[in-house]
Amino acid sequence: MLNIILMGPPGAGKGTQAKKLIAEFNIPHISTGDMFREAIKEGTPLGKLAASYINDGHLVPDDVTIGLVKERLSKSDCAHGYLLDGFPRTIPQAEALESISKEIGREISHVIDIETPKEELVRRICGRRVCKKCGAPYHVINIKPKVDGVCDICGGELIQRPDDNEEALSVRLEAYTKQTQPLLEYYQKKGLLTKFDGSNSSDLTPKLVAFLRG
Ligand code: AMP
Repeated sequence: MLNIILMGPPGAGKGTQAKKLIAEFNIPHISTGDMFREAIKEGTPLGKLAASYINDGHLVPDDVTIGLVKERLSKSDCAHGYLLDGFPRTIPQAEALESISKEIGREISHVIDIETPKEELVRRICGRRVCKKCGAPYHVINIKPKVDGVCDICGGELIQRPDDNEEALSVRLEAYTKQTQPLLEYYQKKGLLTKFDGSNSSDLTPKLVAFLRG
């Protein structure tokens, strides 16, 4: 069973790889970032709370994030595998995930870490644009839409995420180093971690697919 965690700093390409892998393996994509952005768009109480952290680059508190993932993982579509993207990001989240996944009999099988040099992360994040409607990713230099500012897929408006600027990115990178990086050792010790080079995104997908096919 493929119960996967995709890890890596902001801009490593987790979202891009996740979309390809879920299509390949037909498993649900659980992205806490996407879930928070959806709640923000809908203006729910969760969205209002999350926005106050996300827009400045800070992590949303563990209890809120863990509750959200617990509910999502318990749904029936996760019974035959799932891909977690952007969760866990702290040791308490990883510990909670361990007990939740045991409880529901859906334990983690693979932890994939996508490693990318910092200059490349800054270049990707600061030039990133996303479709407001469908979330498809673009880049001002190397993934341009056919018509300026318009999504090729759904015609939606292309925007810059409020947390995709240099100021918020430096807070996000600091949160990654301090709070998320220790998870690499945590999963290494459990024998679940495999590292991949994320500098070339199109090369990476076939490598991940081959690895997961085992
Ligand atoms: P992402 O789309 O994964 O880059 O997430 C965007 C933002 O959502 C992050 O910078 C955090 O503010 C918040 N977020 C996403 N996942 C988590 C998590 N597991 N724990 C805390 N905050 C999160």
